[in-house]
Amino acid sequence: MQEINSVFECTICLQSFTTEEDHLPKILACGHNICSKSVSTLFEDRTIKCPVCRKLSKYDSIDDIPTDCKLITLIQFLKKTTYFNFAPGLIANEFKEIPKIVSKIQRENKKIKEFYDLRILKLKKACKMILEHNEA
Ligand SMILES: [Zn+2]
Ligand SMILES: [Zn+2]
Repeated sequence: MQEINSVFECTICLQSFTTEEDHLPKILACGHNICSKSVSTLFEDRTIKCPVCRKLSKYDSIDDIPTDCKLITLIQFLKKTTYFNFAPGLIANEFKEIPKIVSKIQRENKKIKEFYDLRILKLKKACKMILEHNEA
């Protein structure tokens, strides 16, 4: 689930992308996102080496590196809907929790099944005893 975190966070500075100028999600030619601040530290010789996949992207100027508008739309959408204070880390954590929750439910279900199995067994025994008693 590491990927979900990296969707909302800059790989370089580990800060959440924002819709403001300093941490805008920029998109490199390879498709990976880096914030506008980190992009300026990586831009050298009109080239950026992607910190994720190491591919080189070339641009005449730093202003030519496009902003990832789709990601901004997604951030704005989540801001409006899910949380009042948008916390991407929080969302990512919740995604991480899902497998844990599923296995917890499975464990609980097993416990419940064991509990009822035991009760059914006891009831069967009780029925048998009553039947045997009546027969005698
Ligand atoms: Zn950054
Ligand atoms: Zn890349």
